[in-house]
Formats: sequence, structure tokens, C-alpha cells
Amino acid sequence: MERAVSPGSTATIDSMSNVGTFLDKSLLPNALHILGEAGSLAAGKNSSGATTAYLVGGPVRDLLLGVQSRDFDIAVDADGPTFAAELAGKIRGEVTFRSEFGTAKIAAAGLVIDITMIRSETYAEPGALPLVQPGTLEDDLARRDFTINAMAVDLTPGRWGELTDQHGGQRDIVLKTIKSLHPGSFSDDPTRMLRAIRYESRFGFKMDPKTLTSMTESAGSLAKVSPFRRLAELRLIFGEETTVDILEHAEERDLLAGIHPALRISRQALNKFDSAPDSLSNEERQTYYMALIGSALTQGEAESLSRDLELSSDWSGALLSGPKFKGVAGILDRSDLKPSEVVELLAPFPVVALEAQLQLAPPLLRRDRLSAYLTDYQHSKPELNGDDLLALGVPQGPLVGKLIAELKVGRLDKTILSRFEEEAHVKRRLPMLT
Ligand code: ATP
Repeated sequence: MERAVSPGSTATIDSMSNVGTFLDKSLLPNALHILGEAGSLAAGKNSSGATTAYLVGGPVRDLLLGVQSRDFDIAVDADGPTFAAELAGKIRGEVTFRSEFGTAKIAAAGLVIDITMIRSETYAEPGALPLVQPGTLEDDLARRDFTINAMAVDLTPGRWGELTDQHGGQRDIVLKTIKSLHPGSFSDDPTRMLRAIRYESRFGFKMDPKTLTSMTESAGSLAKVSPFRRLAELRLIFGEETTVDILEHAEERDLLAGIHPALRISRQALNKFDSAPDSLSNEERQTYYMALIGSALTQGEAESLSRDLELSSDWSGALLSGPKFKGVAGILDRSDLKPSEVVELLAPFPVVALEAQLQLAPPLLRRDRLSAYLTDYQHSKPELNGDDLLALGVPQGPLVGKLIAELKVGRLDKTILSRFEEEAHVKRRLPMLT
């Protein structure tokens, strides 16, 4: 099936107002300067041949919502990378990415500016990547996901602030509604269902009834999307502040299974998403989520999820830790376990996966042991290092590592308490080992 998403030149702009003053007042000075430069460059003589530049999509939505953006999407009627190279020179920015599809990225003054060519898109078949070609502004807005993301603001000096809103984006911002542009939107691109839930949750909006019905009908089509894109959506969900809410909605609407059939998230795991230690970086927090998810999966499920979505080694390691930990949890509850044995059991696990297991652990000995490992045991090491051992007469080679390991065990189990006792241990063992 070939279906043009955009109505092309037949589209009428039925709502146009000017948000120029709003732009001037709301944006940070550096953002305002950059947008002004983009507009002036397009309106003047420039190497890309652009004549207009628009702020489009998310930043327009955020502007009307009163949310400060750091990412700005600008669409020009010319080749994006050529325009970006010239703009970067004017705003002392750096082009950090350019693609053959007419897009480029500039980093400048702590902001990210995406430059794209104004384009139209058609889908050869549902779920496939769109075929892209130059188009009108109306085409470009009509290819977008939701009304609130389908507005543009002119940045050229004579028309500064003119808003194009042909799909009722302003209305839906006021009504707090997520609404698709047309009934076939989700079958064209099923990832839009996950995007819809993200926006619904992020902004506290509700779903338009027809959009919701279409979501129910299209839920199964998410499985047709490439694993790469499904994983990208999962990452975006993990990157939101309301991850738990989004996952709950996705589960209610049968979309998690569309990302992967093994992606079941237990209530117990979901309750712990917000307990990630503050010390974790954003990346680590996402790995922690994978570890929580893995705790409810079998080894086979974790392996298929990891393989099919081609997870990174960090995510895969965290996910597989879930079923693997079930094998050691019972041993950790044994009262006769020495600290060095706890270390032997837990050292193969990624630390972030153990943080997740600590949150999930029932109040049994395993919890104390996880806690002791994370706060204390994992950092324990002897005072003597390899050079000290060589100075004590240990020959270079595997014996150094073996003795260091013995000292570590002694320190953990408190059979060796000082540097002096470490030296004594080495001197006593050396004749036995050589
Ligand atoms: P965010 O704040 O999440 O970054 P954003 O709206 O800037 O929001 P992007 O993913 O950066 O989101 O996409 C930029 C714009 O491209 C969107 O506002 C939307 O208009 C359009 N867009 C992105 N993904 C799709 C899609 N799958 N289908 C249609 N339009 C899309």
C-alpha cells in the first residue's frame, strides 16, 4: 500500500497568529539570538539558497506550554547541512552531525539546534521508514505525529513569530489533548503509540478518544517495527521523569509486549523504579531499570529479549543478572557464609544489578549481605601491592596475583588485620608455594 501522509498543497492554513512577542519574552537570550540569526541568514544571501527558516515541532509546543527548551528544531527550504554549516559560523557553534537526508545538528551556547530540510514523507508500507523528499511547510507539518507537535513559527525578520497551526495544535494544548493528525497515523508508524503515551504522561495530558481507539486497534502492529526502533523508544521512555507511569500505561494498552513479548514488568519491580540510588548517572539509572525488569524474567526470556533487541552489553548484563541472581539468593541466606564467600558469589554481577537486587530483597540475610558487599566488601583490598610483594622476595609471575588474592580473603574474613600480618602471611606462604 502506498499512501501519501501529507495532503500537500491542498492543505489550508486555518489558524495563523503571531507569537513573536511571546518568543521575545519567553526564550533565554542565547536561544533568542540563535533563532534570530537563523531567520536573518535564511532571509539574506546564503550559500544553501534558503529563503525561510521555521522553528518547528517540539520547541513550538514547549514555547506555548511555557517549558524552556534546550533543543531547537529549525526547518529550512534548503539543504540542512549546508545551511547548518553557515549558521554555525555565525553563532560560534559546531556542526556535530550531518546526514545525507538533509539534516544536521549544531551545538552552540549550551543548546542543540537541529536543522532539517522542509520535507514530505510517504510510507511504502506500515511500519517502514518513510520515503523523504523536499516539500512545502504544509507537507512537513502534516507528516508529524500529533497536533501539538505540528506547528511552526516563522523566524525570518519580516515574518518573525508568525505561527502556522493547520491541525489545531494550540487548541489541543489548551484542551490538554494528545491527538493524531489522521486515523492511519499509528499504522504508518506504530512507534507513535509509545510517543503518545510519553507526551500524555510528561505533560499530564489525556488521549483524544479517536486516537485512543486507533491505539487499541493498532497495538499489535508495534511488533512489525525494527528492533532498533523499538529499543530506541524504550530508551526514550527510560529517559523520562515519569517512566513508571508511562510503562503502566503502555502495559494497560498492550504495547509493552509489542516492544518484545518477554517484556513483562512485575508490580514489585515497578515499585522500585523510583528507588534508584541518587549516586547513579542517567545511563546507570537506565541499566538499573533493566536489572529490575530482569528480576521477573526467566533465563530464556532474558536471553531472547537481549538477543532480539540487540541490547548493549551493559543492558544485557543487567537484564540477565535477574534470573542469574535467583541461583545465588538462597546461598546468600546461609548463616555460615564468610565475607570472602559473599564476594566470590557477587563479584561476577554488575554493581548496578546488585543495587537493584538490594531494593528487591526480602528482609533476610541476603539483604544484609548485598548491602555489606556494596558498601564495604567490594572495596576491600590488602595494603600490600604487587611491588611490595616483589620487595618481599616474591618472584614476578602468577604467584603475585595468588598471594594478593589470599591477602584479600584474609582481610575480608578478618584473619589478617594489619600490614604487618599481611607481610607475615606472605613470608609464611612463600616457601610453601615456591
Ligand atoms: P522531545 O521533547 O521529546 O524531544 P520533540 O517533539 O522535540 O520532543 P523529537 O523526537 O525530537 O521530539 O522529534 C521532533 C519532532 O519530529 C516532533 O515534535 C514531531 O513533530 C516529529 N516527529 C518525531 N518523531 C516522529 C514520528 N515518529 N512520527 C511523526 N513525527 C515525528
